[in-house]
Amino acid sequence: MAYKITDECLACGACIDSCPVEAISEGDIYKIDPAKCESCGACADACPTGAIVEE
Ligand code: SF4
Repeated sequence: MAYKITDECLACGACIDSCPVEAISEGDIYKIDPAKCESCGACADACPTGAIVEE
């Protein structure tokens, strides 16, 4: 189980610093590496648009 970033993402970057295991990367779009994600939910709490959901 990992979190994922949906189309609601505004690319504000708020989630990146919230992740304790550096699973979120910035590119054309923001992505969460499911192999690194520990499903802590910190990024979902940090997201202002509710764009991060559990898969
Ligand atoms: Fe990182 Fe936690 Fe979000 Fe997974 S749920 S990407 S470990 S902040």
